[in-house]
Amino acid sequence: MKLPILFLIDDDPQVLRALVRDVRQKYKQEYQILNTEDPEEAIESLRELKRSGEEVALFISDQRMPRLSGVELLERSKELYPEAKRMLLTAYSDTDTAIKAINEVDLDYYLLKPWDPPDERLYPIIDELLDDWHASYKPELAGIRLLGYQFSPKSHAIKEFLAGHLIPYQWLDVETNPKAQELLALNGLTPAALPAVLLEDGTVATNLEMRALAEKLGLRPTASSNMYDVVIIGAGPAGLAAAVYAGSEGLKTLLVEKHSPGGQAGTSSRIENYLGFPKGLSGSELTRRAVTQATRFGIEFLTPQEALDISSADQYKTVHLADGAEIHTRSIIITTGVAYRKLETKGISELTGAGVYYGAASVEAAQFRGKQVYVIGGGNSAGQAALHLSKFAERVHIVIRKKDLTSTMSSYLVEQIGRTENVEVVPETEVIEARGDGHLEKLVLRTGEANASIARAEALFILIGARPYTDWVQTSIMKDDRGFIMTGRDLRASESFNTGWKLKRDPFLLETCCPGIFAAGDVRAGAMNRVASAVGEGAMAVSFVHQYLAEV
Ligand SMILES: Cc1cc2nc3c(=O)[nH]c(=O)nc-3n(C[C@H](O)[C@H](O)[C@H](O)COP(=O)(O)OP(=O)(O)OC[C@H]3O[C@@H](n4cnc5c(N)ncnc54)[C@H](O)[C@@H]3O)c2cc1C
Repeated sequence: MKLPILFLIDDDPQVLRALVRDVRQKYKQEYQILNTEDPEEAIESLRELKRSGEEVALFISDQRMPRLSGVELLERSKELYPEAKRMLLTAYSDTDTAIKAINEVDLDYYLLKPWDPPDERLYPIIDELLDDWHASYKPELAGIRLLGYQFSPKSHAIKEFLAGHLIPYQWLDVETNPKAQELLALNGLTPAALPAVLLEDGTVATNLEMRALAEKLGLRPTASSNMYDVVIIGAGPAGLAAAVYAGSEGLKTLLVEKHSPGGQAGTSSRIENYLGFPKGLSGSELTRRAVTQATRFGIEFLTPQEALDISSADQYKTVHLADGAEIHTRSIIITTGVAYRKLETKGISELTGAGVYYGAASVEAAQFRGKQVYVIGGGNSAGQAALHLSKFAERVHIVIRKKDLTSTMSSYLVEQIGRTENVEVVPETEVIEARGDGHLEKLVLRTGEANASIARAEALFILIGARPYTDWVQTSIMKDDRGFIMTGRDLRASESFNTGWKLKRDPFLLETCCPGIFAAGDVRAGAMNRVASAVGEGAMAVSFVHQYLAEV
């Protein structure tokens, strides 16, 4: 965390030197001590300090200075730092001015020069002022600040990106947060430039592509080498587990993720059925632990970076990345999981990101405090999302086509929903239209054969099942009729596989129809769609990689 600032201003270099010396002596461990002889320069630098999120705890200014008196300077400092304490250094002859300033500029103290000995005449006063300041000071979150409109899809995408990469940030809604308005003016930003990311070093980034933002934040979208033992594509639980095992077993490993690590599990507010966590753990916590573990074992992690295709020639494979780079590798594990199915209903695509969200979108939950929130979907992920949202929303309505949740949701979630007063299930119902001007305001619902009804809705979260992320694989990797990648013995059922497979052995359990290319987790036909099974398959895939590498 940045240390608060004590700002000392005196045009007399000798007095300023003495003041800086004495103040440093006692306060340098806990405060930054800034000083200047020029009062106008002091005002200039205040704007810069404010822009970069620094806090000033105390100003000590001399009264008699050319161009700007101490009282005037302290007055102007109030515009940017109203909470800071203000002390005026005066000569005996300026006492009247100082007394007047106590009322006029909220002066906290005037100190007659000289202040020797400081132990008696300076430090007790500064201590008292700083104690007061600390009592009312709420430290701002250090780090990145995101300024934007709540119902802006672009703001939503950046929030998801930052949260997905576990980067702490402060969200400032320019419509409701006065602090956001202040930062907008300070940085000379117009509403058209939003969303804007204010970085820790004071730079402001607007209209950023995720890739450019990633680079600014020090993430790594390009590989350091172009030959690996294994490239793992997708950093959900399966990919992260594969990376941990591959790294720990000495394989030169590259993990590529197009969005942010954690995959679907990363968006879960509480995973309750993962072995070893009896109280459950959040998806972001699981992701944080897994990324730390994998990088500790020396794997290389590229994010955000998308695999666009893979190709294979002899025993070498190539992964073609979105930035045009080609990465060569001896084996590949595909762990690209699934994407949410889109809801093709009137009004949904126009309002996506502006009150309508796919997935649990946990970064938005707190924005809907006291509001009417709808969830579409009857699976476990919809149940978890509804329970999480119920902590904020006035009421959460789970819209399902079936009569009840019992056939689609685990019983522990059905029970929890039954016990949660502000969650209701709306059975045999469909959302047939989303309406709103700039953001979601109403949903049109139809229950059974009844006439459509209109309900007030500030947010809609859609969790209606998934389709595999496999469109990108152009290479002749066999998929089932729903697009999931086929592996192992299941491949034998296909005639074209039997004629195309040239090895004497059968494909390994998680091997695709292309030797040395494996699939694990939800992307694989027949997967169990659980965090634990994805993790298990990721680990297993690495053992098959070893067996494959031993034979080529
Ligand atoms: C809200 C929610 C809650 C859930 N709760 C639970 C629970 O409590 N318990 C449980 O057991 N299961 C739960 N699940 C299911 C579980 O999260 C999934 O089964 C699991 O995440 C699957 O892991 P995976 O690694 O196979 O795929 P995913 O998690 O889908 O990860 C795939 C990753 O690959 C990336 N990717 C895709 N294409 C590319 C490409 N071309 N290039 C690079 N990267 C790419 C994606 O961005 C993604 O990060 C939940 C799911 C959701 C959505």
